[in-house]
Amino acid sequence: MSRWSGQVVLVTGSARGIGFAIAEAFAQGGAHIVLSDVQEDLLSAARQKLSRYPGRVFTQVCDVSDASACEALIDAAQAEFGRLDVLVNNAGISIVAEFETCRPEAMKKLVEVNLLGSMYMSQAALPLIRAQRGSLVFVSSVSGIRAIPKGAIYSSSKAALRSFAESLRVELGPAGVHVGVVSPGFTTSDGAKTVMNGDGSPRPIERPAHDTPAGVAAQVVQLVRHRQRERVLTPLGKATAVLQRLSPWLLDKVLAGRELKN
Ligand code: NAD
Repeated sequence: MSRWSGQVVLVTGSARGIGFAIAEAFAQGGAHIVLSDVQEDLLSAARQKLSRYPGRVFTQVCDVSDASACEALIDAAQAEFGRLDVLVNNAGISIVAEFETCRPEAMKKLVEVNLLGSMYMSQAALPLIRAQRGSLVFVSSVSGIRAIPKGAIYSSSKAALRSFAESLRVELGPAGVHVGVVSPGFTTSDGAKTVMNGDGSPRPIERPAHDTPAGVAAQVVQLVRHRQRERVLTPLGKATAVLQRLSPWLLDKVLAGRELKN
């Protein structure tokens, strides 16, 4: 029998990119998958790609920044599968801009998706996750450990997710719920992905990649399997985390000398 056979895994923002790769990694292990995203057209293609694996796939459009949509998704997943073992809070957006250029609407949108979205979805899913003594996973970022220039809003939201997870881990430990955080480094992006300028307009991705979505997904699966608290990804990400602990001052100097595009 496959490792995740009979278990149900829900991944937010799973129509493409890292979220899809995480869903596929669990599907390969035999899990039933709940795919959800705001991009309805991509969801059906993603569902088709998972049809070769043994588990069932259920899809539903869900904007995580809408609390009632999160509740509706969990209700639908329960009606379909009767259980939920793993929730991966992956849906996320990014602003790459100097703080002074960031407009309130763009800031609000980012926080609503990256932070509140994970809170809404986790709260909706908790009764089912608790019943299975399952896992709540948060996709944060290396920049949630050490904020980067032009990343004030994004990095803050990712740092807040780690903080949120810390609190939940202690609250939910006695109920047997695992809470894990994965912090990817720069990862290859889908060709259609854009980030936002400070005014919310789209901006192309211009940066090197040090990991792949499949690489991140493999780490998420291991984190859940071993019920670990955190995994920091990529050699640069691990070095950044260590340097941030040892000498944040030195890291300030390194980052100040580097024009980071996104
Ligand atoms: P992506 O844009 O390719 O995928 C994100 C998915 O989330 C998209 O399918 C998008 O439609 C969906 N989404 C956006 N807003 C949503 C909403 N309100 N509700 C539901 N779904 C929504 O991005 P990615 O590179 O695969 O990133 C996935 C996650 O990994 C994000 O949380 C991101 O911050 C994080 N991350 C990415 C990198 C990287 O280098 N790509 C690095 C660190 C962390």
